[in-house]
Amino acid sequence: MIASFFSGIHAFFHSLLWDVIEALLVLFVVACWAGTIFWARKDARRRIADQRLVQLATVAAALPPFLGPLVYMLFRPPEYLEDVRERELEIQAIRGQIGGGTCPVCESPVDAEFLVCPVCTTRLRDACSSCERPLEAAWQVCPYCETPVTLDDPVPLHPEASAPAAARRTAPARRSRSPR
Ligand SMILES: [Zn+2]
Ligand SMILES: [Zn+2]
Repeated sequence: MIASFFSGIHAFFHSLLWDVIEALLVLFVVACWAGTIFWARKDARRRIADQRLVQLATVAAALPPFLGPLVYMLFRPPEYLEDVRERELEIQAIRGQIGGGTCPVCESPVDAEFLVCPVCTTRLRDACSSCERPLEAAWQVCPYCETPVTLDDPVPLHPEASAPAAARRTAPARRSRSPR
């Protein structure tokens, strides 16, 4: 009588304990699942500018639970938007340093496209021999038409071209090229 009473209590607590453990396990798994969705959404917002794509990534991370985030990680953009913006700003700053700015001789403001300083006539950069667009000093090839930039004292292709080339060299140019 007493023994069966105790075994009944034992069974009651045993099943109750098991229910609690089972509920906690389910809760834990669901919390982990929610955590992966939250992480994927946060990560997608840092990498994707389009809000609809962010929502799509969140759904993709949620739907096959725990597998979705792995699939998302395979297809997500490799860079943070913040880093992309930072790099673009850096490139802009570098471009601002090469082009534009001021004349090295008289320090008047000059445009990035100017070939000579309009104030003191100092040659700032040369024009492409083929498409006539302004070239930066460091460029080895014209980025617009792929014509190679010839350095100072080029071997003239045509003998008659050497005279104007020599005349141009008297200007304080960093390099000249054979005219067409
Ligand atoms: Zn000047
Ligand atoms: Zn060109």
